[in-house]
Amino acid sequence: MQSELSCELAVVGAGAAGLFAALTAAAEGASVALVSATPLAQTASYWAQGGIAAALAVEDSPARHLADTERAGRNAVRRSAARVLCDEAPARVRDLERLGVHFDADRRGVLALGLEGGHSLRRVVHAGGSATGRRVVRQLSALAVDEPRIAVLEGARAASALMRDGRCEGVALADGRALRARATILATGGAAALWSRTTNPPGSLGIGMALAHAAGAELADLEFLQFHPTAVIGVAGREGFLVTEAIRGEGATLHGPAPPGSALGERFVDELAPRDEVARAIAALLAQTGATAVSLDMRAIDPARFPNVVSALRDAGLDPASEPIPVAPAAHYMMGGIVTDLHGASTVPGLYAVGETACTGLHGANRLASNSLSECFVFGARAAAAALAEPAPGGPPAPPSPAASLERPARATQESLWRDAGIVRTRAGLERLLDDPHPLARLIAVCALRREESRGAHQRADFAAADPALNHRHAVVGAGERPRLALWD
Ligand SMILES: Cc1cc2nc3c(=O)[nH]c(=O)nc-3n(C[C@H](O)[C@H](O)[C@H](O)COP(=O)(O)OP(=O)(O)OC[C@H]3O[C@@H](n4cnc5c(N)ncnc54)[C@H](O)[C@@H]3O)c2cc1C
Repeated sequence: MQSELSCELAVVGAGAAGLFAALTAAAEGASVALVSATPLAQTASYWAQGGIAAALAVEDSPARHLADTERAGRNAVRRSAARVLCDEAPARVRDLERLGVHFDADRRGVLALGLEGGHSLRRVVHAGGSATGRRVVRQLSALAVDEPRIAVLEGARAASALMRDGRCEGVALADGRALRARATILATGGAAALWSRTTNPPGSLGIGMALAHAAGAELADLEFLQFHPTAVIGVAGREGFLVTEAIRGEGATLHGPAPPGSALGERFVDELAPRDEVARAIAALLAQTGATAVSLDMRAIDPARFPNVVSALRDAGLDPASEPIPVAPAAHYMMGGIVTDLHGASTVPGLYAVGETACTGLHGANRLASNSLSECFVFGARAAAAALAEPAPGGPPAPPSPAASLERPARATQESLWRDAGIVRTRAGLERLLDDPHPLARLIAVCALRREESRGAHQRADFAAADPALNHRHAVVGAGERPRLALWD
């Protein structure tokens, strides 16, 4: 080790989850080191468009939000975790307002709420139309930079956990420095960029999951990768660009390939059904017709409502006010990740995980739209509070656990995941993935092979129906790589 830094709390990742956890801990008086591998604009949080789900409408309630979350999650939602999310999301939105985030509201200050697939009413708080992530992350980053108790280590990458007697005492950075802390929170984001067609920034490679697994932590639900139905396809420079579901919430429609002589094909799916259903309907239509895209017709939508989506499409040469947009599903959100309890604690003492890298089980087999940003704030705050109650490390510096690979996956791995762990999987394809050189690709395959059924985002051609015996069972994978199917309540 070249040198040692120390703090009370090490937070790895500066997206919504890491920033909020760091600010919460600093507000409690703790010294925090915030480690971020990529620049601000390359976090998934910065790219988030639709918004933050919270039961804020007069006619809404946490119980109704919970019912929608459970319905979308296909009998796999861990109710205790989802209840925490739905109960606490409204208070975290108010915290964000207190921290200076301005959400879209009417003249009287009543929040404007958007509608997205799977929600039974308008529940999604947004900022700058569809620039929610950008607005929130900018504000929280500015606060973190100004906070004297937070040391921001930009451009630094965590490579492994510092472990003593089974307890995590910080992280080893790739540049050789050791960061010692009483607790470490991994907020390293998801893994959807492991798939070749994705809506995610290139850094969403599941490195926190690999790091935690190498330190002995359990991972779960890696077979549950959500495919977003409407990502732009066939447009150079904008491949995989996400067109938020909130646009369908305002009335945009999906159409199949146009018959000769017609500008637009037939509608073929309820545009506001949960994501797994819409993505599957599109994939089935594409397979049946041989087309590469379906059309998203948003000509009736006021462009001023979604300015950043409209301008990104215009930059790519598409005019959403006058022509349908070619879209197809893309890998979007990892429901699985590092197993945590309701306070973000992983199965390794001293090591916590929050945000997309964590798996509380709250999303089940299919995340309800806009529940992930809420999760970052609800569980980010909880993990910060719990982490600060950990004992301070004593004695000489702890040695690092085996380093997680920080290498980008080969293009071949990304293409294999798209082909063999895509929207519809088969045993033969998943078995091929077991030989992939990338360790996470292999873990995804073992979880997907273990789940011999179709449920939510995990669809198997060879097991076409859900198996009721697997309701609320989660594929948990520890050091042995052979997952067990654990029952979570
Ligand atoms: C295009 C798009 C639109 C979306 N829209 C919405 C939406 O409207 N509503 C919603 O709820 N969700 C949305 N999501 C999902 C949501 O944005 C993410 O789930 C959420 O932002 C994840 O936040 P995070 O803090 O966990 O991770 P991220 O925001 O991805 O941040 C991860 C951080 O970890 C850092 N990092 C990773 N590895 C290391 C390492 N080894 N060392 C140091 N740092 C590391 C990265 O540099 C980064 O700072 C969207 C996602 C995408 C891609």
